[in-house]
Amino acid sequence: MRLVLLGAPGAGKGTQAVFLKERHNLAHISTGDIFRQNLKDATPLGLEAKKYMDAGQLVPDEVVMKMVGETLSKFKPDEGFMLDGFPRTVKQAEFLEGLTKIDGVIMFKVPDEAIVKRLTSRATCKSCGNVTNINEHSVCPSCGGELYRRDDDNEATIRSRLKVFHEQTEALVEFYRSRGLLIEIDATGMPEEVFSRVVETLEHD
Ligand code: ADP
Ligand code: ZN
Repeated sequence: MRLVLLGAPGAGKGTQAVFLKERHNLAHISTGDIFRQNLKDATPLGLEAKKYMDAGQLVPDEVVMKMVGETLSKFKPDEGFMLDGFPRTVKQAEFLEGLTKIDGVIMFKVPDEAIVKRLTSRATCKSCGNVTNINEHSVCPSCGGELYRRDDDNEATIRSRLKVFHEQTEALVEFYRSRGLLIEIDATGMPEEVFSRVVETLEHD
């Protein structure tokens, strides 16, 4: 199974990907994570991407498409994966269509104001990658590790990421609906509740 996870920043794509990975044994490909890893390793790709990420803008299509093309070329035809954070523009979606067949596109729907609330309090564990709320925890509730906040999770950058989502990525809803691939999920509430909606829809339709 090959899935695309679609949704505004902070809609919970990464969190749901972890659940889906366990249940369906799918590889998790997050373009944001790949950029952040490159930045940590100070590669030219990471340094190039940083300019855009800090501003809440999209990394140019050509750069992202090349990176995704290289990543997907390592998968055998029978290996499943989830794309998290790609595609984000119609151009990227067309590129993906030329690369591989996608079985479903899950759109996680959350109102903008809930997104801003989530992201301004989002923290990630340095040891295990668990995502949690900084107002509720001072250390990672699952391993005790130190929590950090993403550089782009400040209100100004969040607003521009949301704007980019509405201007460029939301068009993919129609793109995929017209291809009969769209699965819309109410992504408000606790991660476990959202995941049970995903399972219900994916496995009973
Ligand atoms: P979020 O979905 O919370 O905004 P991501 O981790 O998916 O976070 O992405 C972080 C940043 O990485 C984006 O704001 C953007 O700058 C860059 N990025 C990730 N994926 C793409 C993509 N497909 N196209 C362009 N830029 C991307
Ligand atoms: Zn942890």
